Amino acid sequence: MKIRYFDNAATTRVKKEVLEEMLPYFTENYGNPSSLYSIGRISKKAIEEARKKVANLINATPNEIYFTGCGSESDNTIIKGIAYSYQKKGRHIITSQIEHPAVLHTCQMLERKGFEVTYLKVDKEGRIDIDELRNSIRNDTILISIMFANNEIGTIQPIEMISKIAKMYNIVFHTDAVQACGNVPIDVKRMGIDSLSLSGHKLYAPKGIGVLYVRNGIEFEKFMDGGHQEKNKRAGTENVAGIIGLGKACELANHNLEEHMRHLTELRDYFIQQVQEKIEGAMLNGGIENRLPGNANIAFPFVDGEALLLNLDAKGICASSGSACTSGSTAPSHVLSSIGKSDELARSSLRFTFGEENTKEDIDFLVENLCEIIKKLKSN
Ligand code: PLP
Repeated sequence: MKIRYFDNAATTRVKKEVLEEMLPYFTENYGNPSSLYSIGRISKKAIEEARKKVANLINATPNEIYFTGCGSESDNTIIKGIAYSYQKKGRHIITSQIEHPAVLHTCQMLERKGFEVTYLKVDKEGRIDIDELRNSIRNDTILISIMFANNEIGTIQPIEMISKIAKMYNIVFHTDAVQACGNVPIDVKRMGIDSLSLSGHKLYAPKGIGVLYVRNGIEFEKFMDGGHQEKNKRAGTENVAGIIGLGKACELANHNLEEHMRHLTELRDYFIQQVQEKIEGAMLNGGIENRLPGNANIAFPFVDGEALLLNLDAKGICASSGSACTSGSTAPSHVLSSIGKSDELARSSLRFTFGEENTKEDIDFLVENLCEIIKKLKSN
């Protein structure tokens, strides 16, 4: 059965060009980058080339890029790293209610250690209120961590406004850009971003490789002790092939960004229009403005989301209820609750996230099957 994949926010397929670039680093250039002989030096040089490509995608300087094991590690590293480095100045952190668990649970862990955290509310589209942010700032606020784009409803936050406010009060601003990188333009210099997390497997590179960007001049305590890799901030022998793959994926993303965005926006808007036209009561969760090009999160009132998902799976269609990390749990999505959706509506919602391989014909197949399955479920 042909698989139609609409869950690109959960993970993406590794691109052929990315895999090809990685392969020699498993079998030929397998030297440890810390070794002095030739195959070690080849690995080291390739890592530095990849670092430049990642830096280029977000307009950072290469020495501001730290390779990590995943987006979650990047979030953990900087939030805990800033908390521990700045605790003499203060112990207050500001974030939002709709962050990924990698941020939320890290903040909750810090609360158990005596830090205080403000979780900003969001409006019905999933955007924070800038005045609420400003009013939440205290003398002891050391970090603002607000995601660039949400993983469930795709809402893009007013990043430049947040960074301006952070700068005004001399507070470090971190953004979890795991869903945004490679899908929308990001320029850390122009946008005034002090720190950013990204993850390889969301942009057609493999799983198990992430990046933490930290602006030069910002101190943060390291999270992993051991060897001196990554400027002595992240111990552990580098995932060389993963790093090379991520470098290539960033280079491709940078090159194709405009076309990629146009393609995904077209698919998303066509899907939303078709669903609203053909399925009674179907509605978009979150707004259409300030939304990731490939994200459509739809509520199908009076339909059980899990049942819909399983029926879609039987047709080879992959979608998601909530985020990949929260689906499987029976609790309704914290993101949908935060934008004011009832538990019932949240349980009737599915997330479809489009990727570069999807076509208009895929969307027609999806909509046709949604119509049939929903009709069947409603008549049961
Ligand atoms: N942050 C966001 C917004 C995400 O969507 C995800 C993954 O879904 C993560 C962090 C975690 O990334 P990783 O799976 O690389 O740990």
